[in-house]
Amino acid sequence: METVIVTNNLSYHYAAEKERYALQNVSLSFLQGELVALVGPNGSGKTTFIKLLAGLLEPNEGYVEVLGRNPKKLKEEGLLGTQIGLVFQNPDNQIVAAVVEEDVAFGPENLNLPTGEIKKRVEEALKLTGLWELRQRASYALSGGQKQRLAIAGALALKPRILLLDEPTSMLDPAGRQEVLNLLLKLNEEEKLTIIFITHYMEEALRAKRLIAFDRGRVAFDGTPNNFFRQKPLVRRLGLDIPPLYKLLERLWAEKIFVPDTVTTPEMLV
Ligand code: ADP
Repeated sequence: METVIVTNNLSYHYAAEKERYALQNVSLSFLQGELVALVGPNGSGKTTFIKLLAGLLEPNEGYVEVLGRNPKKLKEEGLLGTQIGLVFQNPDNQIVAAVVEEDVAFGPENLNLPTGEIKKRVEEALKLTGLWELRQRASYALSGGQKQRLAIAGALALKPRILLLDEPTSMLDPAGRQEVLNLLLKLNEEEKLTIIFITHYMEEALRAKRLIAFDRGRVAFDGTPNNFFRQKPLVRRLGLDIPPLYKLLERLWAEKIFVPDTVTTPEMLV
């Protein structure tokens, strides 16, 4: 598998807080097709990490490479979106056009692609995100989950290989959260997109293939979600919850009811 992101001794402190690192000596690499949840208490450095990957911040020490390039340079060349799709918490801030299909066309239009190619990309992105039927709707009239899927469609229309999402579900109701999570799972599974998302919902983190926990700017855990939730003192120290589904899995393991250790989804239980 190809390595798509590498960070080496990555450190960052905000100008206002020179004494304290928001992120310190983070060395991680990500392979094509990974589905990674970033978790940790508020202020532990998750957003700073994502911003460094996306070239929105420049490291004070260490380096980051995305597909072999410095993301800051990619950003300056206007090419970042073609490598990394970025999605933030508030879907309202990410919608730029009044009509759904126009919103998705915005990115490809800015790349000055031929009209036919723009149409094709908009159609593909809307179909992938389940918004094709809603293409002529007013963007503002969509539900929270639909708006967030629209933000993802906009990112997909630039054909990135990586999606970075900063708490994409935190402003959504439970139905919206489910829609967005299912979409991320599908994009990872079927489109082989590399997906890194921040979440404070541990039931979402359990669905990832890899979980990285941050604590005070450092990596406190990097491994499978099951192995993370097995380490109860660490999970507790970080102030995180054990998701109910994981508790059920532990009960089944304890009762010696055979459930493979790799099971992380309710569907896999049936
Ligand atoms: P998380 O995403 O895990 O909540 P952040 O990356 O947002 O954490 O924050 C990491 C640290 O950097 C925190 O101590 C936070 O207070 C600080 N920080 C974040 N953004 C800024 C900023 N714009 N200016 C100064 N300090 C900041």
